[in-house]
Amino acid sequence: RGTTPVPPDVRPRLTVLSGPSGVGKSTVVAHMRKEHPEVWLSVSATTRKPRPGEQHGVHYFFVTDDEMDKLIANGELLEWAEFAGNRYGTPRAAVAERLEKGEAVLLEIDLQGARLVRESMPEAQLVFLAPPSWEELVRRLTGRGTEPPEVIERRLDAAKIELAAEPEFDTTLVNTSVEDVARELLALMNVV
Ligand code: 5GP
Repeated sequence: RGTTPVPPDVRPRLTVLSGPSGVGKSTVVAHMRKEHPEVWLSVSATTRKPRPGEQHGVHYFFVTDDEMDKLIANGELLEWAEFAGNRYGTPRAAVAERLEKGEAVLLEIDLQGARLVRESMPEAQLVFLAPPSWEELVRRLTGRGTEPPEVIERRLDAAKIELAAEPEFDTTLVNTSVEDVARELLALMNVV
């Protein structure tokens, strides 16, 4: 009697950053990790071809369709989704290992993947990165200059659907400034 139970540490250790393609997720994450390399970012497997400058094992594990089939069949992915004609998935083992060590783990994945993580890991914290406006998102997706028009069209279609999902997320961050959003994300992850 009289002892106050110590509340369990309920801080979410797994944070999922999602949002429409082109909203600037990778830029925010890169900026954040420059100053806080202790935040562990999961490297996804993808069947997409590398963009100039992208390195295998750093930005993605670039895999063939057959290799992706095997990863899925063997249950090696925590979640996976098809996005704009390619498949993307989060390797399960590496994430589990980091979480066991108590590290702050970040997934940068699409909306479908975020939903799947919510189902399998309800304690995960879901963060939505929103563009300042639709016009700004169109400008960013068009201005990247790395994709042909039909690919940009597909990504804009996907973005329309993705923007409507914002209410499903725990928190929304509006990407007006990379520095501000990176700081807000760090605070949400309790890395300050
Ligand atoms: P990009 O081709 O531009 O690198 O990525 C396209 C979309 O796929 C982005 O929204 C990105 O966040 C998402 N994505 C990257 N890796 C994964 C993953 O492992 N799982 C899921 N579901 N989406 C991913």
